[in-house]
Amino acid sequence: MSDPTDRFDTRCVHAGQSPEAVTGAITTPVFQTSTYVQEGLGRHRGYEYARLQNPTREASEANIASLEGGAHGIAFSSGLAAIECLAKVVAAGGHIVSEENLYGGTTRMFTQVLDRLGIEVTLVDSRNPAALQGAIRPGATRMVHLETPTNPLMRITDIAAAADIAHAAGAILCVDNTFASPYNQKPLALGADVVVHSTTKYLNGHSDVLGGIIVLDDDALAAEIHFVRKSTGPIPGPMDSWLTLRGTKTLHLRMARHNENGKRIAEFLQSHPAVRAVHYPGLPSHPEHALATRQMTGFTGMVSAELSEDDARRLAEGTRIFRLAESLGGVESMICIPSLMTHASVPEPERRRMGVTDGLVRLSAGIEDAGDLVEDLTRALRMGSRGRRPASRHAFSTRE
Ligand SMILES: *Cc1c(COP(=O)(O)O)cnc(C)c1O
Repeated sequence: MSDPTDRFDTRCVHAGQSPEAVTGAITTPVFQTSTYVQEGLGRHRGYEYARLQNPTREASEANIASLEGGAHGIAFSSGLAAIECLAKVVAAGGHIVSEENLYGGTTRMFTQVLDRLGIEVTLVDSRNPAALQGAIRPGATRMVHLETPTNPLMRITDIAAAADIAHAAGAILCVDNTFASPYNQKPLALGADVVVHSTTKYLNGHSDVLGGIIVLDDDALAAEIHFVRKSTGPIPGPMDSWLTLRGTKTLHLRMARHNENGKRIAEFLQSHPAVRAVHYPGLPSHPEHALATRQMTGFTGMVSAELSEDDARRLAEGTRIFRLAESLGGVESMICIPSLMTHASVPEPERRRMGVTDGLVRLSAGIEDAGDLVEDLTRALRMGSRGRRPASRHAFSTRE
């Protein structure tokens, strides 16, 4: 087990893990079991049934909680399952104020599912403190939910300022830290009460797991979330927990390269004549660059760019190394068109209001050689301007 005073990189490798008790195995085993044999009636080792307890899951939870600087980590079968559970626990019958430029699946849940639980959601541009403040309903608002950077426009909200607004209204602040990862941003230290992640993305990092987690300090709220999770069942399996635990061992190394490659791609795109705008908080031209520099220590591998609709489609279909795929944060570079893919489930007028145009391309820079990535984009954009379409090797999926 690592010491809580160990630095971030050491905790990535060791937090939450000790050599296994029977053999001394250095890695936490995959406890692939649904139940545990009891020694006698009422006599067991704290493990009864796998929906309640699993050592592999617990190691992964303790590891990520340590990386976010929180006391409790509670893992889920997906990022959306984590967000839904939190919403149910804190806001049933109440009101949530949320950033409007959200991951498409979260928008769909907030606008088409939570009302069935009596939860009302108001979407605002959370960069504007007056808009955030104005959407608060005294006595009814239970939670402010942010994504920063947002998906896919990479907007930045001031976490400390949003925490003050939420707390003054008696609400909690939840930050979806999926895009930044704890390597680049620690919302709890900035005043947030809860952090959620789609561990599917940077935390696992290898595009082979779907998962989510809630990290928080408050013991009573953590106990409530544990109670609802065990009573409803959205837990991750042992193998997925193990893959996530393996992924976070290299989070610091991967993120350093994602940050470098993201910056390189953003600078390249900004200099390209076919590109009308680049959204990357690490660029001085980004409207919240100063704020991003204060609250983040790196700017991730996520970049979005606006092109003509034709150029955007040709770029997305013309790259060789950047794979046309939904999802992000994996070691492999990926490219997508949010309006057709990740945000296809958001109704068109809403999408336009959010600024997700048909010419918007979202790139997730992986950990490959930056020169190869730049050449890949250069080649695809050149094919575009000559009007040569590559053979279509991808089918568009419109659901995520
Ligand atoms: C992917 C994603 C989610 C949803 O996570 P799943 O693991 O796909 O359920 C939530 N928030 C953000 C920012 C995401 O990128």
